[in-house]
Amino acid sequence: MREVDICILGAGPGGATAALHLANAGKSCLLVDRATFPRDKICGDALSGKVVMELRRISADLPGKLAASPAQVPAWGIDFFAPNGRRLSIPFKPTTGGGTDVVGYVAKRLDFDNFLIEEVRRRPEIELLEDVDIVRHERTATGRWHLGTADESVEISARLLLVANGAQSAFARQVAGHALEPAHHCAGLRTYYQGVTGMNAENFIELHFLKDFLPGYLWIFPLPNGQANVGVGMLTEAVSSKKVNLREKLNEMLTTHSALKDRFAGAERLGPVRGFGLPLGSKRRALSGEGYMLLGDAGSLIDPFTGEGISHAMVSGRHAADWAAKALVANDVTPSFLRQYDAAVYRRLGQELRLSHTMQRLLNYPWLFNFVANRATNNPMLAATLSSMFVDLDLRERLRQPSFYLKLLFGGKVR
Ligand SMILES: Cc1cc2nc3c(=O)[nH]c(=O)nc-3n(C[C@H](O)[C@H](O)[C@H](O)COP(=O)(O)OP(=O)(O)OC[C@H]3O[C@@H](n4cnc5c(N)ncnc54)[C@H](O)[C@@H]3O)c2cc1C
Repeated sequence: MREVDICILGAGPGGATAALHLANAGKSCLLVDRATFPRDKICGDALSGKVVMELRRISADLPGKLAASPAQVPAWGIDFFAPNGRRLSIPFKPTTGGGTDVVGYVAKRLDFDNFLIEEVRRRPEIELLEDVDIVRHERTATGRWHLGTADESVEISARLLLVANGAQSAFARQVAGHALEPAHHCAGLRTYYQGVTGMNAENFIELHFLKDFLPGYLWIFPLPNGQANVGVGMLTEAVSSKKVNLREKLNEMLTTHSALKDRFAGAERLGPVRGFGLPLGSKRRALSGEGYMLLGDAGSLIDPFTGEGISHAMVSGRHAADWAAKALVANDVTPSFLRQYDAAVYRRLGQELRLSHTMQRLLNYPWLFNFVANRATNNPMLAATLSSMFVDLDLRERLRQPSFYLKLLFGGKVR
């Protein structure tokens, strides 16, 4: 039996970030994962500017290390394709107005998660156990969490448990009572291609809001060596109500859609199309309880409009490390103490998640999307304004207001 103060279950971006912040604060922890790194994770592989900010918070040299890695490509903007096929090109370059100087990247999760794990391996405060599949968790009479593998080869007793074991977390379901709710959950598919033509020279990521996938989108994200991450995400509730076979539909779109078929005609698919769920943060859930905190996907923190979850896992990892350290100092792991962790996470992400939920619901009105896209292609000011949509909360707030659309309709100045 390993006796520790802090055990982190899951070493993805959420768990690894928590472990690194604890190490920075001089606290040791046990970090457990059922995989051996490097390991794959089904994902779009897009790393937003928020990921870069979180890396900097772990250590000032990490953004530079990522930028120097051959495993990534910097993405200098986004190409949105409205349901009517109209393209809205949104550069991130500050000189083109309204953007941000924090660039995003695309890197396979095989590489990015291992990038974080390499930092973990450098830290003596962190004990990393790989290839350890935790299947049991119970609260003991002495107020500790007891975890174990099926063959009982690893048994862990922890005062505090940071649960970062992803979208299929049994702990989140069984202990925290988080059920899969189709209205707050997205179905995702991902595959890799070589040789897709017509990719943007500055590695813009492409979001295609095709009518058949609303609310949701098909993406094409550029990767190093001429590869691309291609996939689709759609609200689980809509997948059922519209009876969409997502796999067949994705294949159909790539082979028959007028904007896509020529680009994929000579491309080679690398490996299978694989599926995984996205627990969305469109509903506020409790993130803590007796002696535990939920991080990242285990806490359902994915942005309901963009599908971004890596940075949110890292944000929650940072706050979980902070409150874990405080809880040990105060010798208090009660739900009322740990609720301060929930408050910290939702102070940072709550407004963003709410606004993104509104944006997601707007996708139920394709005509509105078409209308904004039509106007923006003739209106550089609007295009520039939209360019900060992914980073500027004030803009998202404006997109919620009817006055925004009225100004568009009657030609008022949209700023
Ligand atoms: C199709 C798809 C596309 C996406 N695209 C993007 C994107 O482009 N950009 C973006 O920011 N986000 C994207 N996301 C969301 C993103 O993948 C997640 O939000 C992110 O991985 C959450 O990180 P995490 O650390 O919470 O969990 P994970 O990354 O899922 O890590 C959990 C870890 O826990 C381990 N684990 C699980 N169970 C156990 C167990 N029983 N015992 C021990 N270890 C265990 C796993 O091996 C894993 O290493 C996408 C998701 C999907 C499904």
